[in-house]
Amino acid sequence: MSLEDKIKQLVRPAIQAMTAYHVPPATGMIKLDAMENPWSWPDDLRAAWLDTLRGVELNRYPDPSAQSLQDVLRSSMNVPAQAGIILGNGSDELIQMIIQTVAAPDRTVLAPEPTFVMYRQIAAVTGMNYCGVPLGPDFTLERDAVLEAIRREQPAVIFLAYPNNPTGNLFDSGVIHDILSCAEGLVVIDEAYAPFADASFMSEIPRYDNLLVLRTVSKLGLAGLRLGLLAGNCEWLEQIDKTRLPYNLGSLNQVTGRFALEHKTVFDEQARQIRAARGELATGLQAFEQLVVYPSAANFILFRVPEGRADEVFAGLKQSGILIKNLHGSAPALQDCLRVTVGRPEENAAFLAALGELIG
Ligand SMILES: *Cc1c(COP(=O)(O)O)cnc(C)c1O
Repeated sequence: MSLEDKIKQLVRPAIQAMTAYHVPPATGMIKLDAMENPWSWPDDLRAAWLDTLRGVELNRYPDPSAQSLQDVLRSSMNVPAQAGIILGNGSDELIQMIIQTVAAPDRTVLAPEPTFVMYRQIAAVTGMNYCGVPLGPDFTLERDAVLEAIRREQPAVIFLAYPNNPTGNLFDSGVIHDILSCAEGLVVIDEAYAPFADASFMSEIPRYDNLLVLRTVSKLGLAGLRLGLLAGNCEWLEQIDKTRLPYNLGSLNQVTGRFALEHKTVFDEQARQIRAARGELATGLQAFEQLVVYPSAANFILFRVPEGRADEVFAGLKQSGILIKNLHGSAPALQDCLRVTVGRPEENAAFLAALGELIG
């Protein structure tokens, strides 16, 4: 049998049908595609961090529960005292653990569309059904449509990114409360962009036993670290924790995470700067009357270019050394849409200037 036939025979059809998560090369580019914090650490902080790494004993396995990192995260993310927490190698790993805990072929993962692609991707890997409920005009969560879909599909787990990626908006919190009350399964509020929004469901955990809240330090300024947190009802988390591989957080990750969060004021200040820059970037985009600019509570902005021009604008920006995200063709509601991450002021200015050349 040829290798090709063997692969066809052995690899699960769901995997064959998938496309791998693609990360485009960005060397030498102004990188405004991946919601990274554009600021690096001040030199004195970097030096102090390197000192803490000297004490790490790499011949030993890490602390399996990362207890002291848990303690720092619990207080810096205002996790309610009654809630349990699990740490993951990025929140992507926690999404995978949640889905693996409930996965079975006749069960469904439900999320609004468009949203973060990992929910669908991991549902596919585990052989679950996926139900995407289209968002309404301006990407709002439509109460009747969502509640109807929940009653019909009885999803094992619902994912709501809050704020949503790639649209940037916060859903109506009243609709989310209705979903929490109506759903029999788990409801995961993915708060990856919490540092840039003034809204959270973290304090609601004691009210709902089916509410899980996801956080990550990636968008705050530690994307290279891979550290996420899941908070929720202890009995649920006890089950989900069984799917965690031992030692999922390495010693370097644990020590660095703890050090960084002990200096969280540095990152909070950077988040404040990013929010200010977001306002300026939105104003700059709105000045082009050909564009539709969507409101954002995150560190990126979604905008729509004139019909049929997204690929050309994206390619033109790339030609000028600026990488953003082209969403055209990824979902019906994202026709002609591009997404730009808020960068440093000079990066945002370079982006606006290049965009002006292309569409002005
Ligand atoms: C970026 C992002 C994540 C992934 O975060 P990691 O912690 O880096 O894995 C999760 N959810 C949403 C909605 C995101 O946009």
